[in-house]
Amino acid sequence: MTAKIIDGKEISAKIRKELEQEVSALTEAGIKPGLAVILVGNNQASRTYVTSKQKSCKAIGMKSLLIELPEDVEEQILLNKIAELNSQNDIHGILVQLPLPPHISEEKVIETISPSKDVDGFHPVNIGKMMTGQDTFLPCTPFGVMQMLKHEQIAVAGKHAVIVGRSNIVGKPAGQLLLNENATVTYCHSKTPDLATFTKKADILVAAVGRAKMITADYIKDGAVVIDVGMNRDENGKLCGDVDFEQAAPKAGFITPVPGGVGPMTITMLLYNTVKSAKNVLNNRN
Ligand code: NDP
Repeated sequence: MTAKIIDGKEISAKIRKELEQEVSALTEAGIKPGLAVILVGNNQASRTYVTSKQKSCKAIGMKSLLIELPEDVEEQILLNKIAELNSQNDIHGILVQLPLPPHISEEKVIETISPSKDVDGFHPVNIGKMMTGQDTFLPCTPFGVMQMLKHEQIAVAGKHAVIVGRSNIVGKPAGQLLLNENATVTYCHSKTPDLATFTKKADILVAAVGRAKMITADYIKDGAVVIDVGMNRDENGKLCGDVDFEQAAPKAGFITPVPGGVGPMTITMLLYNTVKSAKNVLNNRN
């Protein structure tokens, strides 16, 4: 068997096309969707992500606002800036690029963003809504994973999903969204002994670890759906996932590549959430 490759670029392009039309309709109605991104300091990787988010916004006709603050900015100045954006009518989404310098509390920052503009889906109010199955902004990476499954018409209900990784931004919400769709979910992490005994039982395996190519063929059940969230560099400095693609592809039923898999979906779902926020404003106005 050779896995069908789930093409994140293609699925993203399709969703972005739909979003572009929605942006145009919203703009005509006087609500041009706007995303504000706050970048603190000069982390090169963060800057690359932010630039890519801005470009993607503009490409579908959205407003994109970049606020740059120095590495040593006082926490209160950042919180004040967020409060200002919370009350700004032309901004529908606020994103603070993580990680932040150690003197700033990520928790405080996330909790200062209005839940109605929290397009990253990290605010505890939105996480609570996600957990209780209410309509909300879903965290972009796991939301993107769910969209990929939907696009491929992969049934989730009744399947055994195994998530490797339990971070607040990827692993935990990925498991929750799969549970919401009636999968049976197992979480694995760095303290899980004999990881392969769990992963080999997965109908759907989500790897969100951050360790290059650690999921080899021995970790995968024949025909499994393998979703690789990892973004790592291999021994030659080449971008790679948590899954050893060469080994896994012949065994899996479906697989996402790195690059070109989950990565493009993450930004797409950020755009989706910002458009959703602008639509909420329109609906409340009408
Ligand atoms: P974190 O470092 O926050 O979490 C990693 C998780 O993996 C932790 O829960 C950790 O366990 C677990 N883990 C570490 N080592 C092992 C191991 N040997 N066996 C089993 N579990 C292990 O990372 P993130 O969740 O933020 O990101 C994960 C990966 O996804 C990274 O490569 C990141 O770059 C990528 N990423 C990709 C995105 C995209 O758009 N494609 C978006 C966000 C992230 P414990 O909790 O016990 O420490």
